[in-house]
Amino acid sequence: MTLPSDHTPTADLGLAWNHGFAALGADFFTELRPTPLPSPRWVSTSAQVAGLLGLSDAQMHSDAALQAFTGNVLLSGSRPLASVYSGHQFGVWAGQLGDGRAILLGETANGLEVQLKGAGLTPYSRMGDGRAVLRSSIREFLCSEAMHGLGIPTSRALCITASPAPVRREETETAAVVTRVAPSFVRFGHFEHFAANGHDAQLRQLADYVIDRYYPECRAPLSFGGNPYAALLHAVSERTATLMAAWQSVGFCHGVMNTDNMSILGLTIDYGPFQFLDAFVPGHVCNHSDSQGRYAFNRQPNVAYWNMFCLAQALLPLIGDQELAKEALESFKTVFPEAFVARMRNKLGLLQAREGDAELIDGILLLLARNGVDYTIFWRRLAHAVQAGQFEPVRDLFADRTALDAWLLSYSELLGQSNQALAADLMLKSNPRYVLRNHLGEQAIRAAKLGDFSEVHTLQRLLERPFDEHPGHEAYADFPPDWASSIEISCSS
Ligand code: AMP
Ligand code: MG
Repeated sequence: MTLPSDHTPTADLGLAWNHGFAALGADFFTELRPTPLPSPRWVSTSAQVAGLLGLSDAQMHSDAALQAFTGNVLLSGSRPLASVYSGHQFGVWAGQLGDGRAILLGETANGLEVQLKGAGLTPYSRMGDGRAVLRSSIREFLCSEAMHGLGIPTSRALCITASPAPVRREETETAAVVTRVAPSFVRFGHFEHFAANGHDAQLRQLADYVIDRYYPECRAPLSFGGNPYAALLHAVSERTATLMAAWQSVGFCHGVMNTDNMSILGLTIDYGPFQFLDAFVPGHVCNHSDSQGRYAFNRQPNVAYWNMFCLAQALLPLIGDQELAKEALESFKTVFPEAFVARMRNKLGLLQAREGDAELIDGILLLLARNGVDYTIFWRRLAHAVQAGQFEPVRDLFADRTALDAWLLSYSELLGQSNQALAADLMLKSNPRYVLRNHLGEQAIRAAKLGDFSEVHTLQRLLERPFDEHPGHEAYADFPPDWASSIEISCSS
């Protein structure tokens, strides 16, 4: 470590930087330093994400990396900043927000932004303390990698480091920092911020940056009559609809779909009170603070569409034509159901699209809801049933077997028309054996609070490859214990 002129110690992990977002200029962020945390230790690292950044095992396990990813020393060449954004929270305009505890170290030369979450106060911390607790950091770390394992667009997580520094929530907990990685952390709320303040020049600058960097196809002359901003809205609409289809098909409930938590790239970001459904309860509300159930599982696609309207409103000064903006949004309504049915068809092992598919999907979802069947276990058992030609383990999950048998009959008819081995193969790749159920996260958190991170590592290994069997780990694919339903997850993180 060397001391630069301003006496902030730096570490060099050999990362090359590009700093695209920082080039936007001072209207978009505040440059600042992370606030150090005492006695950091590793909780976990992701070899996959380290690989994306070109960091070797030796580099990742160095003391320099431990200090740098806790925010105690600066990575040489990094340019830490907190960005400003605004947004709608729970359907209401919340005004200015911003990175209140996330500090962007910069963008690497290969186009990945690296952010420390929980690295201290920023000018946008409002009432918060700039910190994240170990509990929520473990949940974010594991879920980022689990979503990636499931093939769902998401920010990634490089590592978690923990410190004994106390952090006050409902009770006193300890601090941790998650290093998050994504091509961009720009949110709908960044656009809303400049639009709401009438800063059209900055709004255009941001939109041009996002288009040039991430959506260059929007500059094609035939794209939306040569209106790149309408084309951007259209593209984001499609990506967001595709993301919602992925969430709904896997039973993922985000919990806080405020517009400041919506990625302009259609990634899952800002893991807070999320939950993978245990029993299939369409109206399930995973966020204990969401008393109105605004972000209930089955409302997510509609909420995403509502959020798209907020983005449209923000981009309107650039698009300059309300009808064109509406047209750009329309794709959500076709892309979501198409993408959802396509994913569900894979889950059912239906190799070709047919007329009755949507009806068959609705039929089974209704039965799963009526019988309160465990969502993940049902699909995995169905895959094994098709593989073995033995449906009893599936029938065992339902109280109303008569209704299920009627559904199985129509299903078998459709399935019978395709190659069963291929169907089973597709199903085993589309229906995960392992998802990050609340109780699994909770068990790992309880052990971690006592200094034992082995459960975090085990879960990470299973969730990185959720479609594999992982012999010896059957318990992680089992029904949740009774106490799982009493876990309360709130916005407090
Ligand atoms: P969320 O809905 O959790 O994504 O957070 C909403 C806003 O609150 C964002 O601007 C966050 O940066 C900020 N925030 C959340 N927790 C904290 C905290 N502990 N300290 C500072 N800011 C926070
Ligand atoms: Mg957020």
